[in-house]
Amino acid sequence: MSDIYDLHCHSTASDGALSPTELVERACQQGVTHLALTDHDCLDGLAEAEIVASKLGLRLIPGIELSTTWEKKCFHIVGLGIDPNNNLLLEGSRHAQSTRLNRAEKISLKLEKKKIFGAFDAVKAAAGEGMITRTHFANFLLSNNHVSNLQEAFDKYIGDNKCAFVATIWPSLDEAIAWIKAAGGIAVLAHPMRYKLTKSSMTRFMNDFKKCGGQGIEVVYGRSSQDDISAAANLARKFELAGSVGSDFHNPNNQWIELGRLNSLPPGIKPVWQFF
Ligand code: AMP
Ligand code: MN
Ligand code: MN
Ligand code: MN
Repeated sequence: MSDIYDLHCHSTASDGALSPTELVERACQQGVTHLALTDHDCLDGLAEAEIVASKLGLRLIPGIELSTTWEKKCFHIVGLGIDPNNNLLLEGSRHAQSTRLNRAEKISLKLEKKKIFGAFDAVKAAAGEGMITRTHFANFLLSNNHVSNLQEAFDKYIGDNKCAFVATIWPSLDEAIAWIKAAGGIAVLAHPMRYKLTKSSMTRFMNDFKKCGGQGIEVVYGRSSQDDISAAANLARKFELAGSVGSDFHNPNNQWIELGRLNSLPPGIKPVWQFF
């Protein structure tokens, strides 16, 4: 049986719809042999995922997707192969949880100005012990018929710079990569084509990412076009980064591709799993 990697996905510990157990079971059914669970700013799902993965004979790579700020913009850095008990990451995660709670209050107040009530209680209940994310707001807006699909929730209300958007200061790129490295992990730039950077900003970002100790880039992403894959592969070659593959699976019912259904890395790109 050939190896099938999927190194980016979410569980109910952040904005995924499946519990860590359900997620690992599904990955196994889909033939995934190496799965990284990478919840937003959160390690809480990893222990449960590991128990199921070892029962099913699937290799779980402990991961996290850290929200970071670089030049006032949010960048997602996936940490792969981290120690889930590392104190710097645990402390960063606790801080992110309170940042997210504060942000949720502010988003809810902005929604109230648009005569949309009850968001805060709803997202808090939906997130439970997990991280409150904008996905929870999108689900709330959809289930209360304020929008007709999740994308519209982002386009109309909670997307960057829309009327209920709240700018947030996340840990710096430098800090986040330092935590990942201290936890024994590899820092990977998630979905590089989603930031819509100009060529010169991308070069500046990549130079900083390398300087901070970044080692990988998500060359194959769940929603990448062939052009996106080529562009990300060019960045991997130019900046001598290893390539990762990740679906960013959140939910079996909408918009996300299935776990493990990813294109192979283009020729000449060293896989990030050389480090594991
Ligand atoms: P947050 O980290 O709370 O700001 O939420 C970010 C999450 O919202 C992302 O990881 C995606 O799951 C989701 N998201 C962001 N933008 C969009 C979009 N345009 N459409 C659907 N989901 C989105
Ligand atoms: Mn998400
Ligand atoms: Mn992301
Ligand atoms: Mn993600």
